[in-house]
Amino acid sequence: MTVVTKAWLGLGGNIGNVPSAMANALQRLDHDADISITSVSPVYKTPPWGVEDQAWFHNCCAEIETILSPEQLLEACQEAEREGKRERIVRWGPRTIDVDILVFEGVEQNEQRLTLPHPRMLERAFVIVPLADIASSLVLQNKECREWANSMDSSDLELISTDQDWWKLV
Ligand code: AMP
Repeated sequence: MTVVTKAWLGLGGNIGNVPSAMANALQRLDHDADISITSVSPVYKTPPWGVEDQAWFHNCCAEIETILSPEQLLEACQEAEREGKRERIVRWGPRTIDVDILVFEGVEQNEQRLTLPHPRMLERAFVIVPLADIASSLVLQNKECREWANSMDSSDLELISTDQDWWKLV
């Protein structure tokens, strides 16, 4: 029997055209016969912190359904990252993004190769706020994602796209 599982991904980066690189990564994952993207959050922009000449960060989250194991899904995410890194327009430099697995429904594990849920997600407004947009009642450590989001300082997060299909249009 094929088991379909929900999982949530976090995407982000600060080099090159990150929204475009995130859209390419999401389209690539959605084209995988074993993965369907069911919902994508808006893109948020976070100002550089500390070192001021660093580029702004862009982040989003996606909900998927998959028949892959967590490790197979990580491989697909890493392939999408590598693809993004290869796609460079020389004049503007590399497009670097990260694609992390935040939550894989029903799985808790603590391995260096893959820790689930993602160990640092609850400390990061730029992960929790977009995640709450698409999974407000997802329970993380006995508390709904929307409560985590409401209890965080998100004043430096700037919403830059409200079109839910932004990732299909880039
Ligand atoms: P980073 O460069 O910060 O994106 O870290 C990538 C490394 O973290 C990879 O070697 C992964 O095997 C490992 N890793 C552990 N847990 C996760 C996770 N939940 N999602 C993505 N990568 C993970």
